[in-house]
Amino acid sequence: MKKAYYREQALERIARDVITAYDPRLYYGSPAAIPIEDIIEAQGLVLEYQYLRNNGRVLGETIFDDGLTAIYDRENHRYDLLPVKGGTILIDCSLCEEEASTGRLRFTCAHELGHWLLHKKLFCGTGENAALRSGNESDNTLEVQANLLGSILLLPLPQVKRCFYQLRSGRTNQQLVTDMAGIFQVSKQAMRIRLENHNLL
Ligand SMILES: [Zn+2]
Repeated sequence: MKKAYYREQALERIARDVITAYDPRLYYGSPAAIPIEDIIEAQGLVLEYQYLRNNGRVLGETIFDDGLTAIYDRENHRYDLLPVKGGTILIDCSLCEEEASTGRLRFTCAHELGHWLLHKKLFCGTGENAALRSGNESDNTLEVQANLLGSILLLPLPQVKRCFYQLRSGRTNQQLVTDMAGIFQVSKQAMRIRLENHNLL
């Protein structure tokens, strides 16, 4: 299978196109949380919440072709096969529970959208949905790409910079990371990594 290598700038452009197609203000206006679930649906994808495994080890799955996928039936303690359409993103219900972090749910959605945007040409028609279960580390390059695009979708660089310069005065780095993570609705860790990678911290 041929893999495409995307430079970070190319991923920034893909994210910009997807976000501005949904609402340019999210990219050019005041920094705000990216409504990732709405954007997924606006891309024509179906977003569905199911228990994917009994142990929460698979958090998301992108379905490229119509078929069947395993989901976990919690009441009957067994796996079932769910008919799914190509262009479906499945998210594990454990991420929607009250104690789960919003940042983790949002990042999983963004990661799966990343797979769809980058990898649908590789997978459509192959019936290989399973290759893209998060947590399956058999193909690390694809996971790294989806992680990077996921992070860029939730934290578009111009917005991160805008927010950083608006907020930095009078704040410690720790406060800045906390406040910016709150604005973009991401984990503090994701926020810190994005800032560090662009030498803003
Ligand atoms: Zn993945």
